[in-house]
Amino acid sequence: MRFLILSDIHANVTALEASLTEAAGKWDKAVCLGDIVGYGPDPNEVIDRIRGLEAVTIRGNHDKVGSGLTSADDFNPVARAAAMWTREHLRPENREYLEKLPLGPLSVDGFSVVHGAMRDEDEYVVAPAQALESLIEAPSRVTFFGHTHLQVGFSLGPDNAISSLRLRPANDAKLTKLELKAGTNYLLNPGSVGQPRDGDPRAAFAIADLPQNEVEFWRVPYEIEAVQGRMEKAGLPEPLILRLTFGR
Ligand code: ZN
Repeated sequence: MRFLILSDIHANVTALEASLTEAAGKWDKAVCLGDIVGYGPDPNEVIDRIRGLEAVTIRGNHDKVGSGLTSADDFNPVARAAAMWTREHLRPENREYLEKLPLGPLSVDGFSVVHGAMRDEDEYVVAPAQALESLIEAPSRVTFFGHTHLQVGFSLGPDNAISSLRLRPANDAKLTKLELKAGTNYLLNPGSVGQPRDGDPRAAFAIADLPQNEVEFWRVPYEIEAVQGRMEKAGLPEPLILRLTFGR
């Protein structure tokens, strides 16, 4: 069974469609690590598509705030403005879908998924020391996480040494392959489909074939200007529009 791993789509249906086109025929079941909405101009279109894929999905912090499940008090002003816009524009059935999304960690066919970290869905895991807790506590050898919008990973080997993994393909390449080693636990971030922050503006996702001990990390270009045009029309904050150009 090959899994398509999507995270942090952030209401960017153009990036999602480009990812699905590139991944077509390469996977059997889709998984989504949360933050379906927030920041972007297409919350309903993205939710409709994810529901249509019957993706196994957990909630992210933007799904909680966008649906009204939690307040936007912890968000910066730009994120809060986008969350309020999202609340106003969600169709009732899509708001309900977001409200009912399960909280991670969730076990999926031999691996685990979390939005932020194993113990805290809202924690940003960027450093090896932060990854250690999730690596030790994970009930499976592979855990996928999102939230940071960085296509990175961490591993904990049989010698108890923790390593940072560079997973992002070079700018002129579209994928890197990670071979999973025996006796090693992995915490892997597929990157963000709709708002990358690792300096590469291309949409990011992963395809996992764990029985074959292989995970692919993909980047695909999409029509950024088309999304930016819809964001401008919607009156979404300018910093959110600009950052898509740079992938920051
Ligand atoms: Zn996010």
